[in-house]
Amino acid sequence: MERKTKVVIIGSGPAGITAAIYLKRALIDFILLDKYTPGGKVNLTGEIENYPGFSKVTGPDLAFKFFEQLQAMDIPIDYGDIRTVEYLNPGFKVVSDEETIYADYVIAASGTKERLLNVPGEERLTGHGVSYCAVCDGNLFKGQVVAVVGGGNSALQEALYLSTLTKKVYVIHRRQGFRAENRLVERARKTPNIEFILDAIPTEIVGDLQVEGITIENKFTNVQSTLAVNGIFPFIGMNPNTGFLKHFPILNEQGFLLVHENMMTDIDGLYGAGDINHKELRQIVTATNDGAIAAIDISHRVQ
Ligand code: NAP
Repeated sequence: MERKTKVVIIGSGPAGITAAIYLKRALIDFILLDKYTPGGKVNLTGEIENYPGFSKVTGPDLAFKFFEQLQAMDIPIDYGDIRTVEYLNPGFKVVSDEETIYADYVIAASGTKERLLNVPGEERLTGHGVSYCAVCDGNLFKGQVVAVVGGGNSALQEALYLSTLTKKVYVIHRRQGFRAENRLVERARKTPNIEFILDAIPTEIVGDLQVEGITIENKFTNVQSTLAVNGIFPFIGMNPNTGFLKHFPILNEQGFLLVHENMMTDIDGLYGAGDINHKELRQIVTATNDGAIAAIDISHRVQ
């Protein structure tokens, strides 16, 4: 199937959804594509307490609110797993597993995917005790012992969420300092069933058919020990979903998109929005910010 539109938005997380809302209000024709459910990573987040208007909301509830808003505005989300984006100078040919779309502008808002620990046992035991989504799988570990790996906002936030379900949560982090907000670290420190294991690096996930433990090595002493756990949640950062853009000279060393203030890359008409962009602060509010700026910039050029 072939279609033509003004703008293709790739990804329906907070950035893509916001771009869609702004383009709709500017009466610009667009297609919003995703290969998963709307809301992106928000769907996988436990509790959110830093999005204005919601003192406390679960990720899936907020994602559903996004979806309801799209429905109310009559904005459909089409399925599409993007294979390539070709620059036709001007314009783009966007090829998904389903169709080919010709568009004047592209907003890449396809977010990130979780980084793996890359230790023995991880791949084999994924789905058998290793999980990258506390909100999806936390219930499976009610009353059990789990380990969260990482020291960023995701690790601390999800450790706090898991502490409400499980008997004990180990937070395994490779140094003493944290990337996570102090507030989250302090809350975790005050939570009786969270124990920090610092300066420790996971070396193996053990278990036959199901996770039975995690082997860690102290960074300074090189002493190895195995913690008995039923579940392991690695939250050690994200890699950008920019594979379909890798032939363009617009990515940084880690593969994040380099954009200007108007969210456009060095390719005329190709924009980036949300966690996919090279930036300091990855939050829902900064993703929505990017989506709005990209859409408004396009609307100024279309008129
Ligand atoms: P992150 O901030 O990049 O943190 C990754 C953590 O994993 C770091 O503590 C890092 O240690 C550790 N790590 C990296 N590679 C490792 C390895 N191979 N073995 C062991 N540990 C490793 O990632 P994130 O927490 O997923 O967050 C991603 C972005 O989303 C951030 O910008 C974050 O602020 C944002 N976010 C915000 C919220 C919120 O505001 N509530 C919630 C979730 C995510 P080092 O510190 O030593 O490098």
